[in-house]
Amino acid sequence: MQLATLNNGVQMPMVGFGVFQVNDGQTEQAVLTALRNGYRLIDTAAIYGNESGVGRAIKASGIARDEIFITTKLWIQRENAYDNTLKAIDESLVKLGLDYIDLYLIHQPFGDVYQEWRAMVDAYRAGKIRAIGVSNFHADRLVDLITCFDVVPAVNQIETHPFYQREAERQIHQEYGILQQSWASLAEGKFDIFTNPVLTAIAKAHKKSVAQVILRWLNQRGIAVIPKSVNENRIIENHQIFNFTLNSEEMNAIAQLENGSTIFNHRDPQMVKLLAEFHE
Ligand code: NAP
Repeated sequence: MQLATLNNGVQMPMVGFGVFQVNDGQTEQAVLTALRNGYRLIDTAAIYGNESGVGRAIKASGIARDEIFITTKLWIQRENAYDNTLKAIDESLVKLGLDYIDLYLIHQPFGDVYQEWRAMVDAYRAGKIRAIGVSNFHADRLVDLITCFDVVPAVNQIETHPFYQREAERQIHQEYGILQQSWASLAEGKFDIFTNPVLTAIAKAHKKSVAQVILRWLNQRGIAVIPKSVNENRIIENHQIFNFTLNSEEMNAIAQLENGSTIFNHRDPQMVKLLAEFHE
């Protein structure tokens, strides 16, 4: 298993398992399958409504707590954001059946992120969380948060795939020692990604799947991944990305696929409105 060392020294698996859009009951089975097939990082969020399923799977797996890395995320807080963030952390701990969270992220760059971060720093210092980070922060929002506090996010989890490569964020991450973690590495199967001619040709040359090529490409760029699947064969396949290497020609060919196609544009006012309607 390949590990990244976060900017506070904590070690985190570079390949994990995501459970967005998986209901609580199905989550238990999917996470158990992932853990039995070698995954050691599970990515959930309060808003996904499946933290309890993750908790049940951890328990059922029998794997020692300190061998598993659990990420969960804080939903948008507005009034009394400091107190409500501390409350949300405790609620997630109860649902997960854990006494600490490995990585806790601000899920969206909206609401009162400053009070949220203040509370997260305090919970981190109190030992309830091993590392804190953010998600969906564009480079400008990230720099703003960093300049307001003395704890720099350890991770920024953002949409990253061959059609939306996030070079601006990648540069800021490198400058501040922040690990980039990709969500929708497989673009959720959109934009005809699995039949893209460049990706299918590279996959054929290595006798790998398109999904494995994409995950390996991200990995070779130093980006962590958390592909989601509820299919056991695909769960296994997505974890086996270390027995081949893409050459520089292949890396460059994938770099050319950038075209700005995004699943969710966090700078679109309509999208911001849409998220404001979501509640746990
Ligand atoms: P994703 O991992 O890009 O794609 C998942 C989709 O691809 C599913 O429909 C899955 O179908 C299919 N798939 C998985 N492996 C495959 C393979 N090897 N071959 C063919 N199809 C495959 O998308 P995602 O779930 O949006 O992102 C991954 C994780 O990132 C989420 O689960 C969540 O934990 C996190 N996330 C975070 C945010 C955020 O705002 N921070 C947003 C979205 C997601 P099957 O299940 O049928 O295999």
